[in-house]
Amino acid sequence: MFFADEAEDWARKGKEVILVRQETSPEDLRGMSVAKGILTARGGMTSHAAVVARGMGKCCVSGAGAVRVDYRARTMTIGSEVYNEGDWLSLDGSTGEVYLGQVPTKEAELTGDFGALMELADRHRRLGVRANADTPDDAKVARAFGAKGIGLCRTEHMFFEGDRIRAVREMILAEDEAGRRKALAKLLPMQRGDFEGLFREMSGLPVTIRLLDPPLHEFVPHDEANQKIMAHEMNVPLGVIKMRVDDLHEFNPMMGHRGCRLGITYPEITEMQTRAIIEAALNMKAQGFDVRAEIMVPLVGTVREFNAQAKVIRATAATVFAERGAEIEYLLGTMIETPRAALIADSIGAQAQFFSFGTNDLTQMTMGFSRDDAGKFLPSYLKDGMYERDPFQSIDQKGVGLLVQMAVEKGRSARPGIKLGICGEHGGDPASIAFFHRAGLDYVSCSPFRVPIARLAAAQAAIDGGQ
Ligand code: PEP
Ligand code: MG
Repeated sequence: MFFADEAEDWARKGKEVILVRQETSPEDLRGMSVAKGILTARGGMTSHAAVVARGMGKCCVSGAGAVRVDYRARTMTIGSEVYNEGDWLSLDGSTGEVYLGQVPTKEAELTGDFGALMELADRHRRLGVRANADTPDDAKVARAFGAKGIGLCRTEHMFFEGDRIRAVREMILAEDEAGRRKALAKLLPMQRGDFEGLFREMSGLPVTIRLLDPPLHEFVPHDEANQKIMAHEMNVPLGVIKMRVDDLHEFNPMMGHRGCRLGITYPEITEMQTRAIIEAALNMKAQGFDVRAEIMVPLVGTVREFNAQAKVIRATAATVFAERGAEIEYLLGTMIETPRAALIADSIGAQAQFFSFGTNDLTQMTMGFSRDDAGKFLPSYLKDGMYERDPFQSIDQKGVGLLVQMAVEKGRSARPGIKLGICGEHGGDPASIAFFHRAGLDYVSCSPFRVPIARLAAAQAAIDGGQ
């Protein structure tokens, strides 16, 4: 299937679906969650499809450069062969191979030895292992695999659930702050409910919630058919929608209006998310859960950016505490994912209570490779030995890693007890985990399904390299 909504229809009818896209974006989330596998022409190890599929424990081949998708004709072409909607395909997510036809598969099995091995690993490792989890269900899986907290909740994934995308779009279309606040007020209870679920599932363990990160264009449709549907649903002329979508267009969205830049230009978004986190934390605490909230600001590059967001977060939390007559403790920290943030990590560390290295963006920006486009040349680079390993898969220790090491030192020099973690996809890669152990991080965070590997790799790193 080539369209996420149609994948949902097929899955509802009990059919097994592989979603084939040029690339995926958050609006494909529901289609991805019902698909048995995902195949994209563009992308790589840290593109949207790969990150989301890994989190869902799904098979995914992303960045299959030989695949040409024609959405109009509903065909996929590989070389001279044309495949139609409904044709059987099989995927091998480990090797990236795509087979025509139905290859027999079987579920992975866990035996008693697995539990014994994990226990042994836990006795030896120093690094903590958390999970990247966006929903209470993800959190449950993560906990069952032995995660000791959530290292990254990407809140944007919550914006697509049910009918809340409508409120998100209302916010995007709003012409002024009052209009945005009205739409955000609709999102607040839903977002609060999400966080309550996470705090409940992770009682006694830390939950790091990251404020909104992706550029806003990811929340609006780009094709006319879906723009028409949006116009109809929202009772807005099609021309207005098109104009706003055009306004949001960026040549390089990954370096555009995203991360804390959103929260700085629209502080009301940060306010709503903070209120949702703090209210959820107070509600869960009142029900007897042990809540450990950590609020994280994305894509910071200057101390002023962090301080501006910190001011909004602290003021909002203080308002909610006063309204409720109750308080909770929470940590306020930042991602280190721009090279500049790593270079000035001492000044940022003087302000932030924790760092989480966003090595996906840090790799993208340090190498100057787009994480969504590198699939075009990386395979031949790897074949030619230009790089030993895909730097989005295994951390580039000499370059990007140096920035991590430097930021660890600088962060600790400014705040000796600063909590240091990593939540990029490298958090589930054994060679990278060994590097993070040596760099002295406190924990790694990876997709729930990679938690056991991370526990084992962390133990091997400790045994190999001493503490
Ligand atoms: C990162 O950049 O490493 C990260 C964890 O954030 P995202 O992948 O959502 O950009
Ligand atoms: Mg990032």
